[in-house]
Amino acid sequence: MDISKYRVSNGSDFVLADYATRDRGPYKKKTHALKDQKANTAIIASEQDKMYAQDHWGVIILTQAMDAAGKDGLIKHVLTGVNPLGTQVFSFKQPSAEELDHDYLWRINQRLPERGRIGIFNRSYYEDVLVVKVHNLIASSKLPDQLITDDIWDQRYRQIRDYERYLAENGFIIIKFFLNVSKEEQKERFLSRIDNQSKNWKFSTADVRERGHWDEYMDAYEKAIQNTATEDNPWYILPADRKWYARTLASEIIAKRISALGNKYPDVGEEKLAELEIARQQLEDE
Ligand code: ATP
Ligand code: MG
Repeated sequence: MDISKYRVSNGSDFVLADYATRDRGPYKKKTHALKDQKANTAIIASEQDKMYAQDHWGVIILTQAMDAAGKDGLIKHVLTGVNPLGTQVFSFKQPSAEELDHDYLWRINQRLPERGRIGIFNRSYYEDVLVVKVHNLIASSKLPDQLITDDIWDQRYRQIRDYERYLAENGFIIIKFFLNVSKEEQKERFLSRIDNQSKNWKFSTADVRERGHWDEYMDAYEKAIQNTATEDNPWYILPADRKWYARTLASEIIAKRISALGNKYPDVGEEKLAELEIARQQLEDE
């Protein structure tokens, strides 16, 4: 599958409207995509196993999207089958009082995965240049007034680029997904959450309020991606109107990125091999 057309590695000329919300890639049939998705998940599982054994690299998968774009389902489907001991998921919500009493990356640092593991961020520090920007929450934040200038967003984009580069240079790769859902499809999904009793719990009236800010969100996303898509830490724009395609694409991207790390089971030295031989003898002599 050609993943390069969804990859943004030089944000400066990024235009969100150039990216499809509905696509099916090379797949005539959904069942073919699901087969590939399953194969990719198996690759991710085996690569994570090697990564854990080697204990050098770590992987962060970050998802950002409008409500009902399918973040939760994507995480569930793509990572079901990967060893739960090797993964951790964290959902970033509205910051607590304690979190607001710190810089915005503080809470992120507490949730970074260990080496050898895959950490999944359901929303992330990008909220601090998205919802915070759209609703001007910075004005009521605890930042000193003198620091809230017109440069605040450019400063944050730079801080995020630096933070991601720091992580990459320390062995933690970041795979950044934007689930690109259309406004029409979001409406359909909201209606089905209202109409379908088993989905009622997923619906919140706040989601409709946020939908009212659609254009401002799209603008905030576009600027965030323009300013933080780099060769080392690209964004992937997943067409999200077809859930099965977004999931297959994500699985393909994760499998490729994690395989490219070249993890392999550590070689054991002569000494260890000799120890294993002695242990075998002891067991056989019991
Ligand atoms: P779902 O609705 O599928 O359960 P969700 O990620 O939308 O998942 P919610 O609890 O509905 O989870 O929403 C979390 C909310 O927290 C979002 O509206 C998000 O914008 C908000 N949020 C996250 N980080 C911040 C932040 N730094 N400042 C303000 N709001 C934030
Ligand atoms: Mg929500």
